[in-house]
Amino acid sequence: MNFELDEDILFLKKNVRDFVQTEVEAVAMQIEEENHIPERIINLSKDLGLFGLSIPEEYGGLGIGMVGKCALYEEIGQTHNGYTTLIGAHTGIGTVGIVELGNELQKKKYLPAMASGERIGAFALTEPEAGSNAANLKTTAVRKGDKYILNGLKHYITNATEASVFTVMAATDPGKGAKGITSFIIEKDFPGFKVGAIEKKMGLRGSQSAELIFEDCEVPIENVLGIEGQGYVNALKILTNGRAGLASRNLGSCQKLLDISTRYAKERIQFGKPIITNQAVSHMLAEMAVEIEA
Ligand SMILES: Cc1cc2nc3c(=O)[nH]c(=O)nc-3n(C[C@H](O)[C@H](O)[C@H](O)COP(=O)(O)OP(=O)(O)OC[C@H]3O[C@@H](n4cnc5c(N)ncnc54)[C@H](O)[C@@H]3O)c2cc1C
Repeated sequence: MNFELDEDILFLKKNVRDFVQTEVEAVAMQIEEENHIPERIINLSKDLGLFGLSIPEEYGGLGIGMVGKCALYEEIGQTHNGYTTLIGAHTGIGTVGIVELGNELQKKKYLPAMASGERIGAFALTEPEAGSNAANLKTTAVRKGDKYILNGLKHYITNATEASVFTVMAATDPGKGAKGITSFIIEKDFPGFKVGAIEKKMGLRGSQSAELIFEDCEVPIENVLGIEGQGYVNALKILTNGRAGLASRNLGSCQKLLDISTRYAKERIQFGKPIITNQAVSHMLAEMAVEIEA
């Protein structure tokens, strides 16, 4: 695998770094206090094309491959994690399902607006009884004519309150477990769909995780994503992509923490000298640097 970054990516990486360090960092405390990403930051992110990182150019995105995307995520990760999560969940699990599994009609219908950031994407697998045991879905999808009728509840769904396009897994053949799950593209205004309670989290402010409620939710058959019965495999594919991205964002966060810690250890004077001159403190910083490099 080639890990070299081409000139376009290096150029974009620098632009993203400048944007994150000047614009997003300037409002990091505001995001923390207000639990909300300012509209201006969202609009500037749209101008930079950040919502379309994973979407091919023919559908209006930047069409960046996984290595390039991870390089950009490292930069995005170096600021408030609420902002990072909004962009990461949209460009990762929120869009890659449609990019990789969608048919031409679905791609043309959804991707251009998702690439511009006009429509935000989310991914919904988890339920109260389906966490680590993700195939244990209780949300059902029953075919009725040219529609599927969905009933059930999802929770912990990132971007639920901002999103208007959801990749949702539901059991079409509950007796078959992991082999009886199908993926759907669900729009916010489909009848019978609503966003439920927002989780009260310990951290990650600015990123909302919420329930999705399906009560006889009507989904046209053309919104089946991929092959019926392959929903669990689809979810694993999407999550694999998402996890590589999440790891890269966290790598950026770790680098940022090392920078802050090193700066502080050099500035903070105790017993008449900077605390970094204590070997136990510099060992901690060295350990952090080694882990990040690894
Ligand atoms: C901030 C946040 C955002 C999220 N965003 C999304 C999203 O956008 N879309 C989505 O679908 N989901 C999302 N999730 C849900 C996430 O994927 C689940 O939390 C995860 O799958 C774990 O499920 P659970 O929380 O029910 O934990 P549980 O499955 O109940 O696990 C609890 C603990 O038990 C351990 N455990 C479970 N089974 C075993 C076992 N067999 N052996 C050993 N240990 C075990 C687990 O490791 C864990 O430590 C999000 C979660 C969080 C916290």
